[in-house]
Amino acid sequence: MRDSTEAIHGHGFFDESTGTFIPPIFMSAMFEQPGWTRSTERGVDLKYSREENPSVSSLERIMTKLEGAEDTLAFSSGMSAISSIYMSKLKAGAAAVVISEAYATSIKLLEDYRKFGVDVRTVWPSTEEIIASIKKDVAFVLLESMTNPSLRVFDIEEIAKAAHEAGTELIVDNTFLSPILYKPLAHGARLVIESSTKYLNGHNDAIGGIVSGNKEDIRGLWDWRRKMGSIMSPLTAYLTSRGLKTLELRVKRESDSALRIARWLSESGMVKEVIYPGLEDNPYHKLAKKQFTGFGGVLCFRVRGGGAAAKLLLKSIKLIKPAPSLGGTESLISYPIISASSSLDQASRQKLGITDDLLRLSLGVEDPEDLMADLRQALGRTG
Ligand SMILES: *Cc1c(COP(=O)(O)O)cnc(C)c1O
Repeated sequence: MRDSTEAIHGHGFFDESTGTFIPPIFMSAMFEQPGWTRSTERGVDLKYSREENPSVSSLERIMTKLEGAEDTLAFSSGMSAISSIYMSKLKAGAAAVVISEAYATSIKLLEDYRKFGVDVRTVWPSTEEIIASIKKDVAFVLLESMTNPSLRVFDIEEIAKAAHEAGTELIVDNTFLSPILYKPLAHGARLVIESSTKYLNGHNDAIGGIVSGNKEDIRGLWDWRRKMGSIMSPLTAYLTSRGLKTLELRVKRESDSALRIARWLSESGMVKEVIYPGLEDNPYHKLAKKQFTGFGGVLCFRVRGGGAAAKLLLKSIKLIKPAPSLGGTESLISYPIISASSSLDQASRQKLGITDDLLRLSLGVEDPEDLMADLRQALGRTG
């Protein structure tokens, strides 16, 4: 079945005793052990909610279908999903590659693995540089299907091909697109990660993370999840499953609004530059169009008047909230030099084009006319 149907029905839950087909919030910490014969294997029996919980399993079944995977694990945050992958895949003496414009905490945590003897290599975010970094000794390459905040795009099939040849695993953080716009596993990725805090839950009210992949990898990660105690909470799993029902509607609406606002902003002359892969003059437009089924709900722009104007805009904006994060129903605007990219040094930021006049706008599902009116009044104040 298609994504929008799977997102609603893919949990497969039905309770005969009540007739409900809506997975409830199972708060039970443990489950009866008649005769203590239950298995401790992944996905077999319920025993203890740090290992498996029915509300979490419902969400995992939906995500397995949406990602086209064999299995999925839900975690307490995007970062706990990522840290479990590091724990599972790395050992002393191994090498790992990450793009220099990955989610800053993903890079920082990987760099922490240097103290355990892991050779961490950061590469410039381009298809060519990533392919050049793939060597036989590299355990995995971690990249993002669309980077933050520059919205760079890579030829993932080409990178996956090079990774396969070298025996390296490609891990794709698909948070900015969601499985509605792209399914990395179908294009050669070994594992896909999503911070479900963003589009999957989509309502700016629950922190979580997802990893999907093959049975064997997920079994290995499950072991780390139960040892580290990083399973998603039943309430968050419920909220995320509920959010998923409108994932396609929201992502389409947010992508449409992003394209419309990107065009309007770039034609208005009110800003210095608009960065959005949906714009025809964007350097990643062709590749994004070929690879994805949409361009996503995030755009960036550079204001005229430098850092002072950017700060003034953040003070003047009313409907759009000046806050980090993305992918929810409320539109948010963030200031990359003090949020997403604050841990990069000045020289790296400069090289990546993350300057003090750059703002990132994540569209929600409000009426785009109201969002444009808010941007117009705020930009009017920055002169
Ligand atoms: C937010 C985010 C994460 C981390 O997810 P949390 O749910 O905040 O832990 C990882 N990768 C990307 C691309 C993100 O945007």
